[in-house]
Amino acid sequence: MKKIALITGASGGIGQAICEALAKDGCNLALHYSSSGKIAEELCERLSREYNIEAISFKADFSDENAVKALAEKVLSRFGRADILVNNAGIAYQTLFQLADERKIKEVLDINLLSALSLTKEILPSMINSKWGRIINISSMWGISGASCEVHYSAAKSGLIGFTKALAKEVGPSGITVNCVAPGFIDTKMNGNLDGEAVQEIIDCTPVGRAGTGEDVAELVRFLAGEKAEFITGQVISVDGGYGV
Ligand code: NAP
Repeated sequence: MKKIALITGASGGIGQAICEALAKDGCNLALHYSSSGKIAEELCERLSREYNIEAISFKADFSDENAVKALAEKVLSRFGRADILVNNAGIAYQTLFQLADERKIKEVLDINLLSALSLTKEILPSMINSKWGRIINISSMWGISGASCEVHYSAAKSGLIGFTKALAKEVGPSGITVNCVAPGFIDTKMNGNLDGEAVQEIIDCTPVGRAGTGEDVAELVRFLAGEKAEFITGQVISVDGGYGV
């Protein structure tokens, strides 16, 4: 039986690569997006055709507190369950913390952290029922080390790490693993505001000497989502080209 994977932020750079990697493994996919409906729909159409899977897109804006529950309801009513949940949606917002807009801080926490907790809560009963599940949270190197001018983002991503470790202990006996992937600098639209010089500075501090790609992150997610990762849980694994070493 095909596994069913729900990927949030599936319309983004890392999300698209995760969808492709899981489709290659034969999973049916529920792709979540917020504003990039055309990208999500085209991806569904291509992945369904190329990999002979079912891929359906679902819209939800995680800054709306009712949207997460509605998303879970739609996915569960369409697929009946979810075996793999990748909490990947996220936004970044750079500013000095003392100048940060309160509404923007809340939005960063809602989209990067609270939506992941709420969605997991909604999806967990279906995993517990199947006695099998894989939850993969996309954190960040800044969730491990903290970033100046991204204090609220770092707090959200660090929250995902605590969430991962605690939930792994709680649901391990139900056959569910929970892990965290912490990307370094990945070349996606999230970093589109950085100029060439800033990008080069990051690359110069990265031992492998290049920016990461969505595929770099997706290959780890694919492994953690598979049968062979059964004995790995509660972990935070960096995909950062050695930046954080
Ligand atoms: P991206 O290309 O900007 O994609 C972000 C995704 O989040 C999109 O699918 C976007 O959906 C979704 N999203 C944005 N606002 C949303 C909202 N209000 N409600 C629900 N979803 C929303 O960024 P990415 O680089 O792929 O990032 C994916 C994850 O990796 C994020 O959690 C990010 O923090 C993390 N990460 C990225 C890097 C990096 O260097 N790129 C490094 C470390 C961690 P729409 O486009 O449909 O609106």
